[in-house]
Amino acid sequence: MKIASVLVFRGIPILYSYRIPDELSHKCKAGVHVNVSLGRSETLGCILSLSDQSEFSNKIKDISSIHEELPTLSEEIVSLIQWFYTYYQTTPYKAYQTIVGKRKLRCIKQTNQVQGNPSPFSLNEDQAKTFQQITECDAYSMHLIHGITGSGKTEIYMRLAEWVIKQNKSIIICCPEISLTPQYTAQFNERFGDLVSVIHSGLTPKKRDEAYTRIIQNMTPIVIGPRSAIFSPLSRIGMIVIDEEHDGSYKQENHPRYFTHTIAKKRCEFHGCPLVLGSATPSLESYSLARSDTKDLPITYNSLNKRATGSSLPQIKIVDMTCQQDKTALLSPTLIDHIQDCLDQKQKTIILMNRRGYAPYISCQQCGKIHSCSECQLSFTYHKDKTFRCHRCDIKHPMTHTCSYCKKPRLAFGGQAIQKVEQELYHHFSDASIIRLDKDTAKNAKQMEELLTEFKSSGDILVGTQLIAKGHHIEDVTLVGVLGIDTQLSIPDFRSSERAFQLLMQVSGRAGRGAKKGKVVVQTNQSSHYSIQFAKDHNVSSFMETENDMRQCLNYPPFSRLTNLIMSSPYESSLKTYSQSVTRFLNQKKIEGLSWIGPKPAPFEKVRNYFRHHIVFKHDTKSEQAIRELISSLPMPPKGCRVIPDFDPQQLL
Ligand code: ADP
Ligand code: ZN
Repeated sequence: MKIASVLVFRGIPILYSYRIPDELSHKCKAGVHVNVSLGRSETLGCILSLSDQSEFSNKIKDISSIHEELPTLSEEIVSLIQWFYTYYQTTPYKAYQTIVGKRKLRCIKQTNQVQGNPSPFSLNEDQAKTFQQITECDAYSMHLIHGITGSGKTEIYMRLAEWVIKQNKSIIICCPEISLTPQYTAQFNERFGDLVSVIHSGLTPKKRDEAYTRIIQNMTPIVIGPRSAIFSPLSRIGMIVIDEEHDGSYKQENHPRYFTHTIAKKRCEFHGCPLVLGSATPSLESYSLARSDTKDLPITYNSLNKRATGSSLPQIKIVDMTCQQDKTALLSPTLIDHIQDCLDQKQKTIILMNRRGYAPYISCQQCGKIHSCSECQLSFTYHKDKTFRCHRCDIKHPMTHTCSYCKKPRLAFGGQAIQKVEQELYHHFSDASIIRLDKDTAKNAKQMEELLTEFKSSGDILVGTQLIAKGHHIEDVTLVGVLGIDTQLSIPDFRSSERAFQLLMQVSGRAGRGAKKGKVVVQTNQSSHYSIQFAKDHNVSSFMETENDMRQCLNYPPFSRLTNLIMSSPYESSLKTYSQSVTRFLNQKKIEGLSWIGPKPAPFEKVRNYFRHHIVFKHDTKSEQAIRELISSLPMPPKGCRVIPDFDPQQLL
């Protein structure tokens, strides 16, 4: 008699064993869903593995029945689940929910088939070389395409997709934002007709089930989508592409904090196929891996340093705001002149201001107190809809002029944010059509697309947060203005210079993609900062060298790997006590290749009423197991205290 190891649909840290009754034995295999009894109730579960009868089997219950409605998981997805919950130290069911989610097979009407169209041009020399490098490796391998904005990376992905499909295999293309999926999908649909599926969290359950059904039935060998698309249940993966691979959105920032690249590697390894990372500004980790000589895994470095259409990169002008006469003005005379020129020539402008709301500081002129969210200890931001909002927990209060500390009506709203920029733009360019795009005006992917369409057809100026910086291809944008990059530089995180550089390069890449040359104006108080200076010269390699040296001094990635252990509790004093006991515990430990900083209060010290402390472990890949064991042997946290590990964190806030 056989025993099944079953993942039950409950938040339990272990698997349960059930006996397979004879009448079900022909149907039971790994990946099959079953009904089982747990305690006094029935629950759903999924078989992860089978084994022969063990000594304890007398006490084991039988599997009640097979649950036929849920599709059987492939061998690969089953092994991915098993790896995932161990690796990310979560429950099996959480792993299942993350990877499989809720899905049902649906009946798909086969509608008229839509054919694609061949590519209108042949690959240029750089593109062809890259294509060849990648397609030469038919085993598990990694490839970095470092290509400037507009160099034709997307065209390469499409050729690679064609190549994969010819081998009767499938491909996942990850993009960084839901808002960018329509743009990718439009391009891929044009080329491949209805061989393309889109997966993202904004789909209705019906649409999502339909997409999954198509994917499982091998009807669409191309799957496009942001982070979660990496789990698409394709059976014969021939390649995975992660476009804009440096983007922070590839990390899930709540538990389980998985990293898309890690999942992609795992899946490509299983299928023995290439993993392609593409970006105009690769992450320092990917870049240095591809450039180094010592590699465990073959990684090719492919560079495309010309725009495919022959247009040139925009000229970037830095405006030192410390030298401005009018210190209160948001827009420098230089930027105003450039916008006016642009309007005169019937061209479009994009203004980046990566901060929502109208004024990010609310303070009392009488007693000097800052008005902040009591749950997050972060200053409220004043929004023009007459609300005070916390940008960490999204809580909203009606605005008031009365200080809640001294009760005097003397609250003042200071600092700069996007709604104020919008207002100032209206003031200077009252006849222009100005569109603001941020999470407040575009609450979902559809609204975002509508605003972008409006800008493309009739808009003059688009002012937006980082949502507008990525990937968008709008031909008649010839001017990009960048405001507020200093805020990015001042974020207390080791990646803030890199993120600022990437943001500058990305948003600059929106300018001059058509026939006319583009210009970029960057306003900053830190004009000599290396992120800004190297961005000005489009000098990625020098930026990488400088950043690399900094990281080496501090032993940060790529020179080490990090694990951020976040301890949080609604009770500050019990968190402190626990933190101290963790310190004592760690002080007794000595593990080669492992060092740590903390425990100490995290930069975001309080979020949604939880006080937060963290420990940042720096380790080499060899001590990965040791760190996991160390974390699981930490002292028991007190009641209410959560301890959550973040492996390979993207930020340490
Ligand atoms: P990226 O993804 O690197 O930003 P895209 O693939 O979107 O670049 O290409 C930018 C533009 O160049 C697109 O309009 C695309 O159609 C065009 N393009 C790409 N490859 C070629 C080529 N080989 N010849 C001519 N135009 C090309
Ligand atoms: Zn808050």
